Amino acid sequence: IKDMADDEAVQATNDDASECKRYAVQLGYWSDPFINFFVRQTGRKAPEINRGYYARVKGIEVFIDKFLKLSGGKGQIINLGAGFDTLYWRLRDAGNSPLNFVELDFPSVTAKKCYLIKKQKQLIDRLNTEDGEIRFSATDLHAANYHLVGIDLRHISDVANKLSQAEVNFSLPTLFITECVLVYVDTSAASTLLKWLSGKFSNSIFVNYEQVNMRDKFGQVMLSNLRTRGCLLAGVEDCESLETQQRRFTVNGWEGSNAWTMVEVYDSLPESERSRIERIELLDERELLTQLLQHYCISIAWNGQTFKNISIAQG
Ligand code: SAM
Repeated sequence: IKDMADDEAVQATNDDASECKRYAVQLGYWSDPFINFFVRQTGRKAPEINRGYYARVKGIEVFIDKFLKLSGGKGQIINLGAGFDTLYWRLRDAGNSPLNFVELDFPSVTAKKCYLIKKQKQLIDRLNTEDGEIRFSATDLHAANYHLVGIDLRHISDVANKLSQAEVNFSLPTLFITECVLVYVDTSAASTLLKWLSGKFSNSIFVNYEQVNMRDKFGQVMLSNLRTRGCLLAGVEDCESLETQQRRFTVNGWEGSNAWTMVEVYDSLPESERSRIERIELLDERELLTQLLQHYCISIAWNGQTFKNISIAQG
């Protein structure tokens, strides 16, 4: 029963992320015409939170853009713990869709997403292609180049099954995204997942956003009983430092890895964009933002030559 309560708390973190994104989009931090279909109007969030989300979304976007360029539109994107992410629809509108796009999350989350997609003509219309019908179950949706499937990422044989139902091709260039997800998965299950993916996808890049520098002021690692909003951060051991973030990939079979704190990511974003968003809301204490950004990172890993040594640097 305790485990189920934990799983429910983890699933609820998606509502929080979606609400924060919607609020920041509403203020003009970035554009996302689809987020409104997934979350209702929400209360005010602090300016540093909005800037933090801006850095998170834009930082991950740097790698998505590089992946799409390097794979020449002939790759696939697999978002693990996707929640209500709208990337598929944003890429589709930009004429930038990959060959296949797969989203995985707990069945209770994908069921809600299926329902919301079905209800919204603007979402469903963009899943249509000439050659495909759209198939729904309560938790899964299969369209020509978009698949949404319900699983528990800790159960690798289910993940394998659902990826094959989603017509994933192991030899295509592949981008994996985990945005604030692995920290909720216990270290050994996360290792099993990373190892399995690295063994199957020899031409791939993994982009992970989550907590880092998880030591308290006494130098102690804030370990497994750590919770945010009632959620057990089961995988926090790997969030200790940029080094542990990188190592978790290489010990699990990935050929290379790299990691940057969100301070570095923020500073690498285009100057003109940063000064645009810094004018949206006043932030009296810049230190607050820096402290927040120091505790999050983007870590990446790659297999094969195509994505070797990709970095956060623009261009
Ligand atoms: N990636 C989305 C984003 O950044 O907007 C959602 C992030 S939310 C903080 C974490 C997501 O990971 C939730 O949707 C949760 O259900 C999913 N998740 C966590 N552990 C999972 C597991 N074991 N299996 C499937 N999904 C999981």
